[in-house]
Amino acid sequence: MNIIVCIKQVPDSSQVKVDPKTGTLIRAGVPSILNPYDHYALEKALEIKAKTGAKVTVLSMGPNQAVAVLRLALALGADEGVLLSDRAFAGSDTWATSYALATAIRKIGAYDLILCGQMAIDGDTAQTGPGIARHLDIPQLTFCERIDANNNQVIVKKLIEGGHQIVQAQMPVLVTMTFPADYAPKYPSFLAAHKAQDKQIFTWTAADIQADVHKLGLEGSPTRVDRIFPPPARPKGEMFSGSAMELANKFVEILKKESIVK
Ligand SMILES: Cc1cc2nc3c(=O)[nH]c(=O)nc-3n(C[C@H](O)[C@H](O)[C@H](O)COP(=O)(O)OP(=O)(O)OC[C@H]3O[C@@H](n4cnc5c(N)ncnc54)[C@H](O)[C@@H]3O)c2cc1C
Repeated sequence: MNIIVCIKQVPDSSQVKVDPKTGTLIRAGVPSILNPYDHYALEKALEIKAKTGAKVTVLSMGPNQAVAVLRLALALGADEGVLLSDRAFAGSDTWATSYALATAIRKIGAYDLILCGQMAIDGDTAQTGPGIARHLDIPQLTFCERIDANNNQVIVKKLIEGGHQIVQAQMPVLVTMTFPADYAPKYPSFLAAHKAQDKQIFTWTAADIQADVHKLGLEGSPTRVDRIFPPPARPKGEMFSGSAMELANKFVEILKKESIVK
């Protein structure tokens, strides 16, 4: 079985602030991490590898520094890495990004299972995984918390509003993973990181994957970002004290004042 995990290097968004004047993200001095949903997806792929002997390839699109997340993935147990890096990819929105990743996946060749995170914690769109499935014309299962795979099938626990579904699908299939509330990512030992240094990371340009450059970058991106801004702070709530009867009367008084009840 061949598993490809799409992993993205993201700024640690717990530390990212928006510049109030320019409306752009202040990235300076913000550490980069492996997107936590991708970290979880990778761990699930490695569990399937331990059970079935699958080959796990990790794929990332980004600047050269994104090689760090590929190295981390190899140290955790992935078999090989691919970095898509080229100025032609710059300015790509989720549609162009998913086109580039899908085109690279075609070049990787054999794949049975493609795993993505539910979303990237910087972009938050959750569109890239479904976009890749669309470009490859394969089925997709999104918002999955658990996954098991053997022979030609995957079984997932897919979260839906107010509950979950257990879904079985034939491979090839793309699955996007979300993690349980108590999830804590695993990190490799120093020895594992050292041993992984011999594993191969390929760097591919747009030409290497024979991508149509008109489908990449700003030209290939139908999305236009108008501006980025933090949502306005909510007005503070009013607090009341008193007996239950006084509070109930106050509550009815406010509902009448707001014309919610007559
Ligand atoms: C007009 C426009 C211009 C942009 N220009 C740039 C730019 O110049 N440089 C830039 O860095 N970003 C740019 N972006 C942001 C870029 O489009 C997104 O970072 C990217 O498409 C992924 O979207 P997302 O972060 O919402 O990921 P999501 O769709 O939320 O991610 C879901 C999953 O998809 C996979 N995934 C997502 N992105 C990658 C990746 N790069 N490599 C591997 N797997 C991935 C991961 O598994 C991830 O968990 C631009 C966006 C727009 C709209």
